[in-house]
Amino acid sequence: MDNVRRQFIKGGTALVAATSLYLLHDAGAKDQTTGQHRYAMLHDENKCIGCNACSEACRATNQVPDGVARLRIERTGPYGEFPDQYYHFSRVSCQQCEQAPCVNVCPTGASYIDPETGIVTVNSWKCVGCQYCIAACPYHIRFINPVTHAADKCDFCRESNLREGKSPACVAACPTKALTFGDIDDPNSAIVAALNQQPVYRAKEDIGTHPKLFRIRAKAGGITL
Ligand code: SF4
Ligand code: SF4
Ligand code: SF4
Repeated sequence: MDNVRRQFIKGGTALVAATSLYLLHDAGAKDQTTGQHRYAMLHDENKCIGCNACSEACRATNQVPDGVARLRIERTGPYGEFPDQYYHFSRVSCQQCEQAPCVNVCPTGASYIDPETGIVTVNSWKCVGCQYCIAACPYHIRFINPVTHAADKCDFCRESNLREGKSPACVAACPTKALTFGDIDDPNSAIVAALNQQPVYRAKEDIGTHPKLFRIRAKAGGITL
């Protein structure tokens, strides 16, 4: 971080089921998002095999340094009885909240919701490294990028692949099509179709952040031992 930004501020830092159809259930949740698009992602945990192709593609595409990550796949288990045991895989990344605590606490406007895409974004040039956003994020997914010295996290590849008209790197890399990305304000989008086909849930839905990272709960896990 340059000295100007450093000098501005010094100092301090359950998944809950939502089984109804999203567009009916959460129709009033547009909250801080007022733009032309409202991009969201769906992780189908039934299709996830924990291969980490998504996190590796994210690192390469967004030049994420070693030691930090915008995306992790968390493995839990094994569940069940031998020989019918299995693992569950969960996506750990920014939830793209529509009521985003990280945005609300940022003193410089570096954390903001992009009005065109609805994506929670970090302007690294405005970030002073105060870490208020890191402390405020209920999902604990923000970090200080050791190269830029600014707060960082998943931005749905807004500044990389989306800018070039491509899908987010994780979506494109997934060999099982476990990830679906799109505009939930577009009734013809694949993600709206997917959200309306089966029950979904979001992490910590009860705290009122209105995440736009949706999940299909795994029934038996992706890998059988
Ligand atoms: S998950 Fe954390 S970093 Fe992402 S929008 Fe929500 S509060 Fe902000
Ligand atoms: S959308 Fe882009 S930044 Fe976010 S996890 Fe996927 S590859 Fe990484
Ligand atoms: S690339 Fe797809 S299958 Fe592999 S860990 Fe990521 S979401 Fe799961």
